[in-house]
Amino acid sequence: LFLSLEGIDGSGKSTQGRLLADRLRDLGHAVTLTREPGGSPGAEEIRRLVLEGATDRWSPETEILLFTAARRDHLEKTIRPALGRGEIVITDRFADSTRIFQGITRGDLSDTVDRLHALMIGVEPDLTLLFDLDPATGLSRATARAGAELRFEDMGLGFQTRARAGFLELAARHGRFRVIEADGSPETVAARVWTAVAPYLA
Ligand code: ATP
Ligand code: C5P
Repeated sequence: LFLSLEGIDGSGKSTQGRLLADRLRDLGHAVTLTREPGGSPGAEEIRRLVLEGATDRWSPETEILLFTAARRDHLEKTIRPALGRGEIVITDRFADSTRIFQGITRGDLSDTVDRLHALMIGVEPDLTLLFDLDPATGLSRATARAGAELRFEDMGLGFQTRARAGFLELAARHGRFRVIEADGSPETVAARVWTAVAPYLA
């Protein structure tokens, strides 16, 4: 089972990924919990290249190539081997983040993102949980987090608002999405997550 967690910054993906992995492990499942950008040694190096320095360090097109290169390495080195061992893979962000952050929030590069995805990645998760949250709440949660690597903090609420709308549009188009209301306590959100995931467990 291949699961991805998506949403704007501060929507609670990492927190819910940990809670879900713990619950699945308690039930005896083998789980690989991973993240993007990153998730393999090579992809973590690319993560530093994209997240360190100014937001305009790379052109939008170069950024798509870097994120896709990182994803390809993550897929080869971490995701496919774990699925091959029969594990449940949970990734905090996958290609939908690139569709939104590189594809639509700074101009329309959706076609470029989709063509490169088809050529170099070609797989989608079985289930994608979209954590939907008011951007102001997300931004205040994310900026409060120690060690947060936020790229779009300076670009303000408008940016996260466009990203939220983009994620909801994607979710409406693809049956693999389940939208999770991400407000409320972590335990409340975890219960919603469990309702979405349980039907996928053998
Ligand atoms: P990012 O995309 O910025 O990495 P994220 O979606 O992975 O963020 P988390 O790192 O899980 O989000 O959460 C961001 C911050 O909000 C953390 O400090 C976390 O402890 C806190 N948080 C997570 N879930 C909740 C919740 N349900 N209610 C309040 N605070 C929360
Ligand atoms: O999810 P995480 O906090 O690890 O992401 C780090 C930063 O990179 C966030 O600000 C996120 O919005 C951004 N990002 C991006 N493009 C992606 C994935 C993440 O700009 N494809």
